[in-house]
Amino acid sequence: MNCLQDQFPQLVIDLDKLRKNLAALTGRCQDLLIEISPVVKAANALPEVARVMGEKARYLLTSRMDQVRRMKADGIATPIMMIRIPMLSELKEMVAFCDASLQSDLSVLRATEEAAARQGKTHSVILMQDLGDLREGFWYAEELVQAALEVEKQMPHLHLLGVGTNLSCYGSIKPDKRNMQGLASLAQEVEEAIGRPLEIVSGGASTSVYMVLDGSMPDKINHLRLGEIILNGTSGTGNPDFLHQDVFTLRAMVAECREKPSHPVGQLGLDAFGKTRVYQDRGIRRRAIVDVGRLDYGDPEDITPLQPGVQVLGASSDHTLLDVEDYPGDLKAGDVLEFGLSYGSTAFLCGSPSIHICYKNG
Ligand SMILES: *Cc1c(COP(=O)(O)O)cnc(C)c1O
Repeated sequence: MNCLQDQFPQLVIDLDKLRKNLAALTGRCQDLLIEISPVVKAANALPEVARVMGEKARYLLTSRMDQVRRMKADGIATPIMMIRIPMLSELKEMVAFCDASLQSDLSVLRATEEAAARQGKTHSVILMQDLGDLREGFWYAEELVQAALEVEKQMPHLHLLGVGTNLSCYGSIKPDKRNMQGLASLAQEVEEAIGRPLEIVSGGASTSVYMVLDGSMPDKINHLRLGEIILNGTSGTGNPDFLHQDVFTLRAMVAECREKPSHPVGQLGLDAFGKTRVYQDRGIRRRAIVDVGRLDYGDPEDITPLQPGVQVLGASSDHTLLDVEDYPGDLKAGDVLEFGLSYGSTAFLCGSPSIHICYKNG
């Protein structure tokens, strides 16, 4: 491992498992002529991760300009697609650094055309259709078709790359045959209107992968934008058994370990985050504190102890409280405990300046 191995808390990233997850998904999608664009936003576009994810990709995707800027500075050569619908205030920089973007507003498209014209560039766009999740996208198909026509005929510095949708986000709407078929029909309408085929019909994110695996994805869908399922091997619609769920491991050092009552002593008020909490009285038990907390990973429910007999009790900004009564062995200050991570805690940890990042199998 190439990092200061005596520094904690540590986030260990296994680049070989990451590469294998990407290859396994790419293989299965390629069989159905579906292209994968890897999304690096949750890994905070860490250069080692971005390099692995971008090795064979046509585009590397992120939602944030600061990550784009950093990837360019780090010499990541894969062209970048901005997947958060851009703000007018960032168009100049976006056009300078990103080759493509997701778009859903005609006034922003017109301003993007102007920015591209001023920089003498061609910028590719994917028009987003809202199919019920109520996040970004045109609501009426006719409106998207009109916008597509205007891009195609009147915006010489924009290239209409395709159409796409986003699901399983705000509205928790699951990708299914019905909404994917809706996107396929819309793509066909746009193609008829502009008189040529679209390169990309983007059927969503990690939660759409199950339709590739069970064979229910309509033929017309030829692109997915994948983050969680590559990074964590999980998605809200299933965790394929051929993927590694331990690309990321948190390693934290025990800073205190002793027997204490399991119920707080005194008058109960609010915790550090203003919440009323319930505590179970299990008598005197052995507890440990590791020095990593909510400021680093967000929610303590999103980290899972990997050693047996260790249970997360709760956390403050800087500490995680563990019940270690059933831990087989003698745990003491200086020992290291490991935790598996969800997508959410991975995203927080990759961006935390207090975390020491270590790469394995680079
Ligand atoms: C984050 C994001 C994705 C990737 O989502 P995952 O669930 O991580 O696969 C895809 N598209 C858009 C627009 C996103 O913002």
